[in-house]
Amino acid sequence: MKAAVYYNLDDIRYEEVAQPEIGRGEVLVKVRSCGLCGTDISKMVQRTVTPPAVLGHEVAGDVEKVGDGVEKFHPGDRVFVAHHVPCLLCHWCRRGNYTLCPQFRRTNIDPGGFAQYIRVPALNVEKTMLSIPEDLSYEEACLIESTACCLRAIIKCQIQLGDRVAIVGMGPMGLLHLQLAHLAGATQVIALDLVNHRLEISKRFGAEAIINPEKEDPLPTVKRLTEGRGADLSIVATGSVEAIGQAMRLVREGGRVNFFAECPPDSRLTIDPNLIYHSEVTLMGSYSSTPYEQRMALDLIRLGRIKVRELITHRFKLKNLNEAVRLAKEGKQSLKIIIVP
Ligand SMILES: [Zn+2]
Ligand SMILES: [Zn+2]
Repeated sequence: MKAAVYYNLDDIRYEEVAQPEIGRGEVLVKVRSCGLCGTDISKMVQRTVTPPAVLGHEVAGDVEKVGDGVEKFHPGDRVFVAHHVPCLLCHWCRRGNYTLCPQFRRTNIDPGGFAQYIRVPALNVEKTMLSIPEDLSYEEACLIESTACCLRAIIKCQIQLGDRVAIVGMGPMGLLHLQLAHLAGATQVIALDLVNHRLEISKRFGAEAIINPEKEDPLPTVKRLTEGRGADLSIVATGSVEAIGQAMRLVREGGRVNFFAECPPDSRLTIDPNLIYHSEVTLMGSYSSTPYEQRMALDLIRLGRIKVRELITHRFKLKNLNEAVRLAKEGKQSLKIIIVP
């Protein structure tokens, strides 16, 4: 079979690799759609993955073959599958830190979604493989994963009815946060981005206010919009220390800041400790998603409460993954990019 194999940032080769063999409890899935995620890009840019490697983890496809003992799925079934599986029983899982579970970090699909076929290990078949309802396309289904990651963050943020939320970074994840924040009860979402085009799109997705921090200092505007308080919650959906600084500045006393994107490895943040002590600001992070949010995300997408189709701006063939990565890295014209074998 063919796969797009990462050797270097500008060297992704479309080449022949061995089609994975499946064992007991496992499923072979023919990939139909795989989303290109910001984390795929950062793994390549920061070389946190050892080449040669096949990336891609936002997968939807068809069951090609099932191993002995698989009863829930049959050849021809349309399925979504997530790559990591929490054990639900360890110290971390019992405290709700599912995505820090050692099994979660260890599990993965084989070789990765940027391939014609993937082997889905038994644990994933059991916990993270979902049938795609008839009225959902493969493209929409592969976005269950990103939606679930945002949903987990939004649930952690405990938005109250009437909250004012600032989102810094209006890429696909920022736009998902925007929709989910509204759904969770936020009455005002203020979208921040350095790219005007993304701010315009945020408006279409329902942002009550948009700010380009390069053009104006966002603080006075956010204060004016929130009766002088600042945002109840700010979400950082872009991997930059400047964006985090911005988010911390915009939040009200007693507010929360959610760190939702990976910064470059050597990043350092300077914090006034009194922001946490005297102003009681809570800093928190949210990484990845669990089978719980994946099921919820599927429902929200199917019921039309979260729009994902509108996030897709580009589709690339698997053999052109290089080009897709280049476009995504620029981060200007594209939102969600989908790779089709
Ligand atoms: Zn992802
Ligand atoms: Zn666990």
